[in-house]
Amino acid sequence: MKKYLMTPGPVPVSTEVSLAEARPLIGHRGADFSALFAGIETKLGRLLKTSGKTVIFPASGTGALESLSVNFTGPDTKVISVSCGVFGDRFREITALTGASIVNVDVTPGEGVNPGVVAEAVAKNPDASVLLLTQNETSTGVFNRVDEIVSAIPQKNRPLVLVDSVSSIGTMPCYPEEWGVDAVATASQKGLLTPPGLGLVWLSERGWDAVSKRKCNNYYFDLMRQKKDLYKEAPDNPYTPPVSLYYALDAALDEISSDGWFELRSRAARALAAGIDSLGFELLVKEEKFRSPGVTAFFHPSGDTSAIAKSLKALGVEPAGGQGKFKGKLIRMSHYHDVRWPEISLALGSLYAALGDHRARAGDFVRRAFEVWEAK
Ligand code: PMP
Repeated sequence: MKKYLMTPGPVPVSTEVSLAEARPLIGHRGADFSALFAGIETKLGRLLKTSGKTVIFPASGTGALESLSVNFTGPDTKVISVSCGVFGDRFREITALTGASIVNVDVTPGEGVNPGVVAEAVAKNPDASVLLLTQNETSTGVFNRVDEIVSAIPQKNRPLVLVDSVSSIGTMPCYPEEWGVDAVATASQKGLLTPPGLGLVWLSERGWDAVSKRKCNNYYFDLMRQKKDLYKEAPDNPYTPPVSLYYALDAALDEISSDGWFELRSRAARALAAGIDSLGFELLVKEEKFRSPGVTAFFHPSGDTSAIAKSLKALGVEPAGGQGKFKGKLIRMSHYHDVRWPEISLALGSLYAALGDHRARAGDFVRRAFEVWEAK
């Protein structure tokens, strides 16, 4: 049976991306590879609105996060870690392994991060040199306004701001240079609409300066080793890169850069949320301004969420479940890829079918979703 994939990574990739990935291999120490790499860098620069380059590791998002932790932190570092869910906790956990001392700022999962709370923690810990944030908390579908948080923190001697943007870049604006962010980490398999396998890391000038002054105890993830090859006239990698994934990423970046892409993603998210609400589900994220344009988390008030998810899968639609304290209690549907009205109606129609005994509670969900979709 054909499966309709709606997990928040991996996400369905287009035919163009799959065909690009299938191109014949080229050597990674030649002019053709350098040209491919340079082209990707130009496209990533446009996406992030920066002239700075992006390190690309053969790794998943966790590897990209680990590269930040091992290069920026160690036993001499005090870190403020803001977490609103499973992935904020993971970034904290990876960082703690470097021996850094951590100040925890915990936000209730399902709620967004209030910039004032972060500003207060920074003011109270003037000796903290690093601040960890999550732009999009995939476990709950919360999207945090990183720009507002960075503007709110005291600017004098402020900590270096490292952001987990694994599930945000490609789906919503992420302009680290403009926002005063010092490093972002992301991965290929979500908003970048590429198969899993690439972990990407961008650093500000201040970020590179800080990293150049520290000794990294990790060989593979040492960012200064990467920088040397990345900033050459014809860029390449210190170690063998997954060439096919570079082809795929190059093609995917053209899709993401089409006009109105970010607006389309949040429009699809709003229409889907309206339909889900009208079907009788409860959206986990109550405040609309914190709802992710990439992934929506919801549950059924009857407590039958996991049975409904099972029926949904039997129908051929594959969402993700809950994580951490929400294990078995949530359905998470992603809309990172080119989700428009046909995909929204497919998801809502399948949810209606999966409701079973709860179908009678469903409202006029197609009309409500379509009204939001049409309103733009
Ligand atoms: N951070 C966030 C916000 C994520 O969504 C994920 C993946 N779901 C990760 C980190 C970890 O990424 P990966 O599974 O690619 O290692």
